[in-house]
Amino acid sequence: MPRVIVIGAGISGLAFTKTYLQLSNYYTSFSLPKPVDKLAPPTDKSSIPKSFTSSLSLSNPLIPTETHDIIIVDENLSLGGSWCRSRIYPNLYTQNALGTYEFSDMPLEGEGVANEAGYIAGWKLEEYLARWSEKWELTEKMRFGIKVNTICRDPTTHEWILDTNRNPPPEHLSGISEDVGRQLRLYCDKLVLAVGTSSEPNKPYIPGQEFIDDGDMVHSVELGD
Ligand SMILES: Cc1cc2nc3c(=O)[nH]c(=O)nc-3n(C[C@H](O)[C@H](O)[C@H](O)COP(=O)(O)OP(=O)(O)OC[C@H]3O[C@@H](n4cnc5c(N)ncnc54)[C@H](O)[C@@H]3O)c2cc1C
Repeated sequence: MPRVIVIGAGISGLAFTKTYLQLSNYYTSFSLPKPVDKLAPPTDKSSIPKSFTSSLSLSNPLIPTETHDIIIVDENLSLGGSWCRSRIYPNLYTQNALGTYEFSDMPLEGEGVANEAGYIAGWKLEEYLARWSEKWELTEKMRFGIKVNTICRDPTTHEWILDTNRNPPPEHLSGISEDVGRQLRLYCDKLVLAVGTSSEPNKPYIPGQEFIDDGDMVHSVELGD
């Protein structure tokens, strides 16, 4: 199997990974995942599979050790992208009415999912995506706190080469990444960019901001932290 890296654990990255695995016959009709009732906490202790850290040299071809070599990397420390835990604050609601923002195989329902006007709560969406990922066995394929800085392609082997580094976690999550700051070069045969259109915060300069000294300037992506 080719080694596949998906950049982005938002809705697009998750949907791609599940579809890819499904089309690769990863899920058989006898072992379709069952819905989960317990949420797994975000983990990032698992290491990158060896096949992604070595180049495929033509003289020494690497034989992938896993049947399905796919990982999802994300610079955030948990899944969800726009709906990632670190971005969610109590009054963040989606602009979607209940029933209009969910995958067809799993309804987004339950107590407190929507407000009185019928709009879905942001944190419920994050929880929903976590459950859906558990259902489709995607959680174990995610590697968080990995920021992809540059991407290039080896002209000989045609591998994608990703230069990454570990993001430092916020203080209350210290210990989640064991090798913060470490640079890591990853290799893969297929690369999927699911990086979103609004994942990079835009912090415009506000004239006079340097004179505001009685508080920090906070972007909405930091509100959850
Ligand atoms: C505040 C806000 C409110 C929104 N409200 C709604 C709404 O109500 N309804 C609606 O339909 N849509 C809404 N959207 C749009 C929302 O972004 C999409 O619905 C959807 O969540 C996008 O999913 P995605 O997976 O394509 O991208 P994202 O959710 O942005 O995920 C991209 C992921 O890629 C990761 N990434 C990016 N670059 C790198 C890198 N270099 N290295 C490693 N990882 C990287 C990011 O960390 C992120 O986790 C909203 C967006 C924002 C920002």
